[in-house]
Amino acid sequence: MKISKSPWLLHYDASSCNGCDIEVMASTTPRFDVERFGIINTGNPKHADIFVITGGVNHQTRHVVKQLYSQMPDPKVVVAAGICACDGGIFKDCYNVSGGVDTVIPVDVYVPGCAVKPEALIDGVVKALAILDKKREAMKNHETCEVPGASDNREEEK
Ligand code: SF4
Repeated sequence: MKISKSPWLLHYDASSCNGCDIEVMASTTPRFDVERFGIINTGNPKHADIFVITGGVNHQTRHVVKQLYSQMPDPKVVVAAGICACDGGIFKDCYNVSGGVDTVIPVDVYVPGCAVKPEALIDGVVKALAILDKKREAMKNHETCEVPGASDNREEEK
C-alpha cells in the first residue's frame, strides 16, 4: 500500500456507551500507536480523510453525522467502529435508534466488536487507507468516488 499523504482522522460518537470511544483513544496512544501510519486525530471535518464513527445512529445524531460527512472533502472513507456503529448492536431495537451508520451515510469498512479492539480498529483503518487510495486514483481519472463493495444502505429521510 502506498500512502501519498498523512491521512487525518475525524472521530464522532453517534451514541456510543463510551466503551468504543475509549478504545479509539487507546489506538492513538504509544502502546498501539496508529500514528505510525502518519494518522493524526483532527477535530475539523474539513481537514479529515477518514471518518471513524462509534455508536449507533439515533434521531438526534443522524443530522450531525450527515453534516460532518458532507463537510469532509473528497475523497474520504468511513469506518464504522464497534457493533453498534455497524448495525445498531444491542441498542438496535431502542425506540430512538435508527440503526448503524450505513442508514445515514455510506460505510467503507465495518469493524465489529463490543467494544472494538484497538488492533481491529487499526486493521480497519489500514483497509480504509487502501480504499482511500483507490478513490484518489479514481478521482484523478475523473471516475466516481464510489468503490465497489462499499455499503450503501441509506434510507430516505422520513
Ligand atoms: S459496541 Fe459495545 S462498547 Fe461499543 S458502543 Fe456499542 S455497547 Fe458500547
